[in-house]
Amino acid sequence: MASLPVIDPEAEQPQLAGRSSLGILPGILDVPKDDLRAWLTERNQPPMRIGQIRRQILANRATSFEEMSDLPKDLRVELAAAYSVFSTRIERHLIAADQTHKLVLRLNDDRMIECVLIQDDSRATACISTQVGCGMGCVFCASGLNGVIRNLTTGEILEQLVRMRNFVGMKEGEESKAETRTTSLPRLTHIVVMGMGEPLANLDNLLDALSVVGDKNGFNIGARHITISTVGLPAKIRRLADLGKQYHLAISLHAPNNSLRTQIVPTNDKTGIPAILDSASYFFEKTGRQVTYEYVVLGGVNDRIDHAKELARLLAGRKAHVNLIPWNDVEGLHYHRPTDEDLSRFIDVLHRTGVSVKVRKRKGSEIDAACGQLRRKVEQEGQSERNT
Ligand code: SAH
Repeated sequence: MASLPVIDPEAEQPQLAGRSSLGILPGILDVPKDDLRAWLTERNQPPMRIGQIRRQILANRATSFEEMSDLPKDLRVELAAAYSVFSTRIERHLIAADQTHKLVLRLNDDRMIECVLIQDDSRATACISTQVGCGMGCVFCASGLNGVIRNLTTGEILEQLVRMRNFVGMKEGEESKAETRTTSLPRLTHIVVMGMGEPLANLDNLLDALSVVGDKNGFNIGARHITISTVGLPAKIRRLADLGKQYHLAISLHAPNNSLRTQIVPTNDKTGIPAILDSASYFFEKTGRQVTYEYVVLGGVNDRIDHAKELARLLAGRKAHVNLIPWNDVEGLHYHRPTDEDLSRFIDVLHRTGVSVKVRKRKGSEIDAACGQLRRKVEQEGQSERNT
């Protein structure tokens, strides 16, 4: 099995430095409130304008300052000269037959991230990224193939949500209508922090973004409808637990013992399964929320009957749910999806021992919905264009 350099999983990650290389004005959602207040004061404007601007973008779906009709006309013009509503640009927008949308966003420093909108009759779920790349190095995952570049800012995390919320309920061919503002449009109902990056390695910015999400002037989505998926960083899980929020925690376990897990998830070398399970128990004690364990099923690697038995023993007596995720192909990686027979046998073993288990549905697979794949493709296209 390929091995990747192990980084310290709890180490701080680099932040966005300096100004845009693309000459784009700073995104207003990332301007520190004090700076914006000073900017407004210089123009004899009250600080309440900050709340108005944010409400316009987050709740009223404004995509330009011009549309913000509750602001004085002159101020709108000045805002447009100094800031941009969005700091990201939509580089690619794909819509699958099942109405899964996938966006590749180009950031101010020319990096790219992706986010996904998954829809069915009753739900609209946004899957968001928290970092450019990922430093955890899970061997089967496309996001970490080139390591981590930097943390996303609070504004960049929020923009993913705004962009996707503005596309909820939209069908192919309606793109131009999607970002026009009307009342009582469909809204996002759920958020999963399962895109690119390790959310708990960028916890401050993520929490800042999520604090807006619950607000009625934001997205009005309750913490119970927000899932944070982590590779399993015990100290950060405890910090999250101490907030006393009702976020749903998903831990990427992927193996029932330390030696196999360290081969699949290199950061396990530093953390180990017992410390992760202890922090999960702490999370449950503090929040009362059942923890989900994700288990990417890699044919012939972690899908044997003995693995299922060991997993059942490991989780016995815990308030736990297991999400099995048959591996999604990643170009250049030589793993396999499990056979249907092996997968059902794995599920049977868990069921028989009383462990709650589900297989994650595959959505939007024709648009490279596996984490980090589309971004790589778009980046590679850019590279080959530059080389020709
Ligand atoms: N860093 C976080 C979020 C990662 S993405 C974490 O480790 O949980 C969310 C889930 O998708 C994780 O469980 C991750 O291991 C899984 N995943 C990543 N690439 C995958 C692939 N190619 N096929 C199936 N699941 C994948």
